[in-house]
Amino acid sequence: MNQFNPYEMMQGIAANGLRNQTVNPGDYVDEDGMLVCGVCHERRQNYIQVSSPTDEDPERKLPLKVTCQCRCDREREAAEKKAEEDKKAMERVSRLKKASLMDEKFREATFSAFRVDKDNARNLKLCKRFVDAFDEMVAKNQGLLLWGDVGTGKTYIAACVANALLEKGVPVVITSLVKLLEIIQSGEDRESDIIARMNSAKLVIFDDLGAERSTDYALEKVYNIIDSRYRRKLPMIVTTNLTIEEMKSETDRRYTRIYDRVFEVCYPMQFTGVSWRKKAANSRFKEMERLLDDGGDG
Ligand SMILES: [Zn+2]
Repeated sequence: MNQFNPYEMMQGIAANGLRNQTVNPGDYVDEDGMLVCGVCHERRQNYIQVSSPTDEDPERKLPLKVTCQCRCDREREAAEKKAEEDKKAMERVSRLKKASLMDEKFREATFSAFRVDKDNARNLKLCKRFVDAFDEMVAKNQGLLLWGDVGTGKTYIAACVANALLEKGVPVVITSLVKLLEIIQSGEDRESDIIARMNSAKLVIFDDLGAERSTDYALEKVYNIIDSRYRRKLPMIVTTNLTIEEMKSETDRRYTRIYDRVFEVCYPMQFTGVSWRKKAANSRFKEMERLLDDGGDG
């Protein structure tokens, strides 16, 4: 009777494997005739039991000598796999970073490089929490509204959020509405394409709401962009130099419908403190004062 015999099928494959097995320097053969690794002393060859049924004994199994992996082989394979995965992850992050539209100057923005002071410590904590709980934020379509004076670090911290998420492989786009409007108006890209591309990002950061031109056209586009994000229940972070009071007391419908969308899904965080630029100017002033004082005692 011509029944299927796994043993016969595997014999050739096993023999081929044994023939092609590289013997490493230091490897030796043990008393059972098996090749053993000279480094970890685990067998690199072994017997396996393979079914070889006969009419008389359908359960018959025969030992078949095959190659196998020693600990070094397993560790090398795992390391190669991890290196390959790391490389893929890096490539993915760098592709995402490119697609994020982030300005060069914010590429290196990180929470750890953020200058913490009494004014921004809480905001820093909240933004880190936003990153840590990002899945939940997406599920709840929860975004942030970072508002406050020019130069208080709103855009920088938004870039920190973006970079932290990009490092985790989350697609983020960080762009200004002014820039988006320029692109739309230039006719380079269709508005619907731009919106579609943005909506493929898990998070979009709209920098500097309120800096766009106040034409009907511009405000209509800004509304469309923000509204489409809102409708798809995808979170956004908005930064603005406007105050909450200014936004809340706005009566012009062209603006209020934009702000209403933002208020509905973005948790407001106020940024206060002396502007970083002012601080830098102050310290330069103090430095000069000190220099002049030192030199002025003669
Ligand atoms: Zn080994």
